[in-house]
Amino acid sequence: MSLLEVDDIHSYYGPSHILRGVTMEIEEGEVATLLGRNGAGKTTTVRSIAGTEPPEIRSGAVRFDGNDITDWPADDIAMGGIGVVPEGRRLFTELTVEENLEMSKITRGKWNTFRRRSNGGGSATMEIDELYELFPRLEERKGQKSGTLSGGEQQMLSIARTLRLPNLKLLMLDEPTEGLAPQIVQTVSESIRRISDQGLTVLLIEQNVREAMKLADRGFVLDQGEIVYQGTVEELENEDLDEYLVV
Ligand code: ATP
Repeated sequence: MSLLEVDDIHSYYGPSHILRGVTMEIEEGEVATLLGRNGAGKTTTVRSIAGTEPPEIRSGAVRFDGNDITDWPADDIAMGGIGVVPEGRRLFTELTVEENLEMSKITRGKWNTFRRRSNGGGSATMEIDELYELFPRLEERKGQKSGTLSGGEQQMLSIARTLRLPNLKLLMLDEPTEGLAPQIVQTVSESIRRISDQGLTVLLIEQNVREAMKLADRGFVLDQGEIVYQGTVEELENEDLDEYLVV
């Protein structure tokens, strides 16, 4: 059984039919990438999996770690182990780096409630010290307001904050290298590689095909709300997919 199974989902924003039968499977421990041009439906796919509204799934199913999570509320999906690093970072800009990391204590409160309700187990959150090991730059800047960090540092903080989620099993990153200078793209990519080396399953959403190919084991190409190609990265490299991708 795959960790994540997206089975023929159709997602809508009101009357707009955006995802038109998306099917994907992601295996435990792999780095998968979802590629596609602007407006292809990548963010809509992420939101559909994570249960973030809008959009609304009107048919099909999402299964994760043995559960049908199609109709689960977003908080329960997060507590069940799916973390999202959203496009645009969404930090508490007036708070410091460390305060942003501390904010996930709120999430921890929700986690305790969830655990009581579900009688579930679950692993511990990644501690702030461990995150500083992964992102030394954040430790250097722990007292700085996050709104004054560089774009790359903000992206690292956004990733680090999601890694505080308890029970995390799948990390979805929505265009983490967007708008970053090439050198910073390398730093962010390197952190994603290290996170995956620690055993976390990753779904990387990218327009930056070259960067995604360097990290991923397998890729899916989305166009106009449909998966038009899937294969290993080696297979993708040998296909002529230019019409669907920014290369
Ligand atoms: P990008 O790379 O530009 O972020 P994307 O592949 O992530 O693109 P989506 O953001 O999923 O694309 O958008 C897919 C389609 O859904 C687009 O046509 C977009 O205009 C539409 N859409 C996105 N959000 C909404 C919304 N809240 N309400 C209505 N339509 C939306």
